[in-house]
Amino acid sequence: MTDLVVRGGTVVTAEGTSVADVAVADGRISAVGPGLPPATETLDASGLLVIPGCVDVHTHLRLPTDDEPDRFFQDTVAAAFGGTTTILTFNNPGTGISEPASRSLIAGLREFRARTDAESAVDFGLSAVLSGHQPDPIAELPALVAAGVPTAKAFMVYDFRLTDDRLYAALRAMTDLGGMLQVHCENATIIDALTADALAHGNVGCRYHALTRPPYAEAEASHRAIALARAAGASVYLVHVSCADALAEVAAAKARGWPVYAETCPHYLSLTDERYAALDEAELIRSVISPPLRSEADRQALWLGLALGGLDVVASDHVPDRLAVEKRVPASPFPEISNGAPGIETLLSVVYAEGVAPGRITLERMVDLLAATPARLFGMPAKGAIEVGRDADIVLFDPVADRVLAQSELHHSSDFTPYEDRRIRGAVRTVLLRGRRVIEDGAFVGQRGLGQFQQRSPSTST
Ligand code: MN
Ligand code: MN
Repeated sequence: MTDLVVRGGTVVTAEGTSVADVAVADGRISAVGPGLPPATETLDASGLLVIPGCVDVHTHLRLPTDDEPDRFFQDTVAAAFGGTTTILTFNNPGTGISEPASRSLIAGLREFRARTDAESAVDFGLSAVLSGHQPDPIAELPALVAAGVPTAKAFMVYDFRLTDDRLYAALRAMTDLGGMLQVHCENATIIDALTADALAHGNVGCRYHALTRPPYAEAEASHRAIALARAAGASVYLVHVSCADALAEVAAAKARGWPVYAETCPHYLSLTDERYAALDEAELIRSVISPPLRSEADRQALWLGLALGGLDVVASDHVPDRLAVEKRVPASPFPEISNGAPGIETLLSVVYAEGVAPGRITLERMVDLLAATPARLFGMPAKGAIEVGRDADIVLFDPVADRVLAQSELHHSSDFTPYEDRRIRGAVRTVLLRGRRVIEDGAFVGQRGLGQFQQRSPSTST
């Protein structure tokens, strides 16, 4: 029995676009085509795009605590408002994971599940963090993958980074298990040296965060991560590629046919280092992000990379920091400032408005970057497409709406947005999660705990 028909919308998949109805039965898409028979319920989608719910594979949600029991839930509600129906999040230190659990991948997963399984408004999963502070994370990878977490992130910077030999071993172990490593690529030696030099000269302001993390430090580490993956016979996924020089390393590897995948984020596609010219530290601190915002030329190069295939995924890198709390305004010396900015709710909006509306990428490519490819690479075959048999995670999107992004209109647990006052084209109207309405008429109509933990399998395509 068909529960619902989404009628008369423009259905977009990574492969093509057509006016069609979409039928939903038992939470899954049961038919796609023109003139489908009536069902119990009808959703009128005329004039709207019908796209798969976005799959945001890079977020840092905060775990709920006694003091802030709604924090995790709130950011998943924000995801739903933004048209994202599946998120993967990292449980790195800073997200509220306990110290003992942060020292073991399996204990970390167990604690994550215990604290989030009844919390999420959208489907969700964990991507683990391999840390140099963990006694032996590589030995835990088989159990981690078997428990439905076939991806993990390693860092080449920060005090919890993996040294090159450990990174190689992690890549090797992951590929043996069919999993995939995500790598934060920046050269720690360069950044540490430039930071020490800045501090020695009393240059402690926020703009020095960006000046001490130059594009060549990202490009060098990207090259090295790709080379280590090549030696290990592994695929590798570069998170948050921010500049043309790092993109060139990815493109060179892809041209050789190596299984290298890369992600960029909406802020690198829509904001530039012009922001670091602001005089006010309280303003600058909002843009303390790693890697930092880059030049206009880098921004243009990333859009070309998305259009031409050098980049595979756009994800938010959502960090729900608040200015007075985690960012600790007035600003501390730059090395002590929490890195990151919120973006879980604005992912689709920014990519549509800055990418599709001005013709930088096609609608189909947008769906590929935000849904189909992340679902495939991260082992979620039920997600990412408007296609028979897939989960009925469906967004009705108004392509001609004209609106202004503002913190006062958003639902995330941050107290600011990098996109304040930005006028954009397009708006999410209705969101279905496995056929259930979660956003309708500008309101959240889903429920806490409706989101299911995604027991992921190693991807077959990497
Ligand atoms: Mn990172
Ligand atoms: Mn991140």
